[in-house]
Amino acid sequence: MVSVREYFDNIWKTVKSTTVGMRITGKYFLQKPITVQYPDERLPIPDRYRGIHYLEQEKCIDCLACARACPIDCIEMDAIRHGKELEWISFTLDYQKCMFCELCVYPCPKDCIHMGTEFALTTTDRSELNLDLLSYKGMAPDARVRMREAEAKKKAKAEAKALAAEEKSNGEEGGSGEAGGGKDGA
Ligand code: SF4
Ligand code: SF4
Repeated sequence: MVSVREYFDNIWKTVKSTTVGMRITGKYFLQKPITVQYPDERLPIPDRYRGIHYLEQEKCIDCLACARACPIDCIEMDAIRHGKELEWISFTLDYQKCMFCELCVYPCPKDCIHMGTEFALTTTDRSELNLDLLSYKGMAPDARVRMREAEAKKKAKAEAKALAAEEKSNGEEGGSGEAGGGKDGA
């Protein structure tokens, strides 16, 4: 049987714990909500976060330094060289294997591969995790213009050389003809 003292003690404890609880609730009730409605909203990502890579393709020289530095061979690339210009076919990074160690970033001589702040890699198809980092396939418009200019220059140079050779041989033929004519006259 509960004594009168215990009875009032229980009432006091209940009121006290409810007050403590309500004080905490009241504190948060007056604050701005901190819930983030992901994926519509996102918290800021620190600059040094190591997320999905991004490639500054126009700076890349297809040197393979990043691929060689990767300890688990995640990076593969394919490009055709036209003199100094590149025609890109693929530059893939397999996120089934990548451990986001950043070792591929440091050896890049052109500072063109970076760890980004994107992290969402949700898929039901594993093949989608082999991402192509190229922003365009083939040649960049600037590279195409440079290649055409270089080809035109090369062609003009070859034509000038051929013309000079032709003039030289005509000159030699004329010279030998004159020399021959002189002998006949003597
Ligand atoms: S972050 Fe590491 S594991 Fe991923 S591609 Fe770069 S070197 Fe390879
Ligand atoms: S190291 Fe840099 S320049 Fe060389 S292939 Fe990789 S991204 Fe391109």
